Amino acid sequence: MQLALTGDEIGFRNHLRTLYRREIPLEIRDAVREGRELGREDLVTTQRILNAHHIAVPNWPQQWGGRDWTPIQRHIWQDEMQLACVPEPLTFNVDMIGPVLARFGSEELKVRFLAPTANLDIWWCQGFSEPEAGSDLAALRTTAIRDGDSYIVTGQKIWTSAAQYADWMFCLVRTDPGAVKQQAGISLLLLPMDAPGVTVRPIALVDGSSEVNEVFLDQVRVPADHLVGQENQGWTYAKFLLGNERIGMAGIGRTKVRLSTIKARARQTRVGAGTLLDDPLFAARLAELENDTLALELLQLGATDAKTGGSASILKLCGSELQQAATELMLEVAGPGALLPDATQWAGRSTAAYLNCRKTSIYGGSTEVQRGIIASTILGL
Ligand SMILES: Cc1cc2nc3c(=O)[nH]c(=O)nc-3n(C[C@H](O)[C@H](O)[C@H](O)COP(=O)(O)OP(=O)(O)OC[C@H]3O[C@@H](n4cnc5c(N)ncnc54)[C@H](O)[C@@H]3O)c2cc1C
Repeated sequence: MQLALTGDEIGFRNHLRTLYRREIPLEIRDAVREGRELGREDLVTTQRILNAHHIAVPNWPQQWGGRDWTPIQRHIWQDEMQLACVPEPLTFNVDMIGPVLARFGSEELKVRFLAPTANLDIWWCQGFSEPEAGSDLAALRTTAIRDGDSYIVTGQKIWTSAAQYADWMFCLVRTDPGAVKQQAGISLLLLPMDAPGVTVRPIALVDGSSEVNEVFLDQVRVPADHLVGQENQGWTYAKFLLGNERIGMAGIGRTKVRLSTIKARARQTRVGAGTLLDDPLFAARLAELENDTLALELLQLGATDAKTGGSASILKLCGSELQQAATELMLEVAGPGALLPDATQWAGRSTAAYLNCRKTSIYGGSTEVQRGIIASTILGL
């Protein structure tokens, strides 16, 4: 595998490096760097700037705003964005429903939704998980019963990220409860969040943020032409979507930023006659994390067809473990200051970052589930 970037790739990287720093407001990038919570408007502003420069949805077909980039260019695009602390385009729009609509949606749905989805004029949320259907997603029970030219949707979704901001939900529903295989009776519907019968209830999280919600659907009437693709084929679209979701979850650039912050803070932290960075045990742990990050980056660069099963799972699994390990080390550098729940101080925010990062081994398919996929699809067990 060729590890060094070509001259063209270095030019491409430098172009993006400058663009991100020049175009995205400093206060938004500072908030990301310092781990402060962003508001809806920060994400909308950022995505619209990226879209104006035609770099919000490079993974989409070119006809709908995508770019004919190589896997290396896509990696550089994301890595440089994370290194510049630019909030990434909304994953529900860009990695999830956009590519599904572009591939499986009717022409009407594409024309209506794709451009506003790229520009974040529409904010999507993901209505997949239910109280008894997380890892075992095909057990979902929300029903959509056909009634004339509509579906009547009833059920409950849970852990719906940012549903409080969302205009629309892409929602897995059961349209054929009698199907022999659970997966065979599922469809994908587009559901407006302001429809009568939709109730959003926030779930309080351990880090103090309100990121996820329960969404109750009480006889919500959804026009039948909001069905994506074919009725009862939703499982196929969901698998395609989840593959795309996992591929972007490694968070390599984010981990690099955290490791460099840890290094800088450790250099300023006095221990005995020297600094924490001089401590051989600490330095070894930091070096191990840096090496693991580099190894994962090389895997990502080499995984040209990473969307196929196992590679996406390795990236998701190892990327989430690294994000957790980096936030654990942050806590140690922060020391006793991490016990103070003071969001204005780096030490206090490291506790929130540590707690928040527990999620990375759960969402998008838990660590145990990824290990199962790797065992069957790569190791053939
Ligand atoms: C912060 C956050 C945001 C989320 N956002 C969304 C969202 O926007 N939309 C959405 O639809 N969902 C979302 N989710 C839900 C997420 O996809 C589920 O939490 C995840 O799929 C796990 O499901 P579960 O919570 O029901 O746990 P369960 O499936 O009940 O799992 C419980 C435990 O059992 C283990 N386990 C389960 N099955 C197996 C198996 N086959 N082999 C080995 N171990 C197993 C799991 O690893 C886990 O440790 C979010 C979750 C989090 C934490």
